[in-house]
Amino acid sequence: MSAEPLKVHESLDAYKRDIPFFNYPHLYKRFESDFDRIFKDVCSRGAFIMQKDLESFEEAVREFLGVKHAFGVADGTNALMIGLWAMGIGEGDEVICPAHTYIASPASAWMNGAKPVLCDIGDDNLLDPYSAEKWITDKTKAIMSVHLNGRTCNMDKIFEIADKHNLQVVEDAAQALGSKFKGKSAGTFGAFGTFSLYPAKVLGCFGDGGLIVTNDDDLADKIYQIRDHGRDHSGKVQCWGTNSRLDNLQAAFVDFRLRDSYPKEDIPRRREIAAKYYEGLKDLTELDLPAAPSDGDHFDIFQNFEMAADRRDELREFLSKRGIGTIMQWAGVPIHGFPMITDQKPSDFPRTVKFFERTVILPLNMAMSNDDVDHVVAAVREFYGKV
Ligand SMILES: *Cc1c(COP(=O)(O)O)cnc(C)c1O
Repeated sequence: MSAEPLKVHESLDAYKRDIPFFNYPHLYKRFESDFDRIFKDVCSRGAFIMQKDLESFEEAVREFLGVKHAFGVADGTNALMIGLWAMGIGEGDEVICPAHTYIASPASAWMNGAKPVLCDIGDDNLLDPYSAEKWITDKTKAIMSVHLNGRTCNMDKIFEIADKHNLQVVEDAAQALGSKFKGKSAGTFGAFGTFSLYPAKVLGCFGDGGLIVTNDDDLADKIYQIRDHGRDHSGKVQCWGTNSRLDNLQAAFVDFRLRDSYPKEDIPRRREIAAKYYEGLKDLTELDLPAAPSDGDHFDIFQNFEMAADRRDELREFLSKRGIGTIMQWAGVPIHGFPMITDQKPSDFPRTVKFFERTVILPLNMAMSNDDVDHVVAAVREFYGKV
């Protein structure tokens, strides 16, 4: 009997592990009995919309971030849209955001009738305020800083440019709940800040969810009304609004996590995994890694470990054969690549273009063991022949 040649996947079995980019069932499994208890409690009280669990979560958010007002909303996209709406940003106005962000950031300006204008990223792969400055016109109303991957932008520099031109700063902190710059939480610097509770985000719920925070009392009143049909605290309609409320049940689940495991377990563990990646890969000249976790100006929470890698596509293929899931943010297409952007060209964003030739994100989530992290490190090293 002649031996069959080994198929590729069989020859790799010894090296193979299942490390998906994100482990969705683990989100539930991790605290299954607590979530079951919360589900029964909330549902048997019939407490579905704007009940005490939402209020409790909003209180926990205010305490956690050190911010005056917090509102649960339908999702992170609605949070951005409502924030700009409450500020009165609309037709004839322009909002500047980085080309490296989720489509939701510029879409929130568009949904309000304003024009999204893109700028380039800087050395840190986040919005470059000096690039933003080049796109300021007399219509520009706000700069939207996007704290990608759990790292807060350098807010000193962003405010330097915004103040010079008398612009508002708003913050898309969808990926940065608990991230800090000089001790202050992402989302609490500008007119408002927003967060996403999408399952794969750091504080994910079991569906869509979002948050908007502000220190401005007047803006808070408007946000409160807009998310619930323009109604004030007494139920009277005061202005046009929409229905964008965070479900009370979802609020109860994330309240449970934010009051305990998220700050105590998740944030330290995410930073620990990032540190392991950093230590394990820092000598590879083929990679540009994100900054290691530090307690200096930037306290990162590592929503993602996004790096730039030589031969990126081959690396992803290699890791995939070893059971390791990776992604490229925005499926590899930054905002200037979308057909709606007609008057700005890729050559306007040289750093973003360059970064996207090499960008890749390694798995980093609470389902991973240290062995899993070591396995990823070993596979990346093997790919570059540095074992
Ligand atoms: C996830 C995300 C959003 C949108 O949040 P959703 O809850 O999915 O609507 C906005 N901006 C950035 C940078 C994001 O990563």
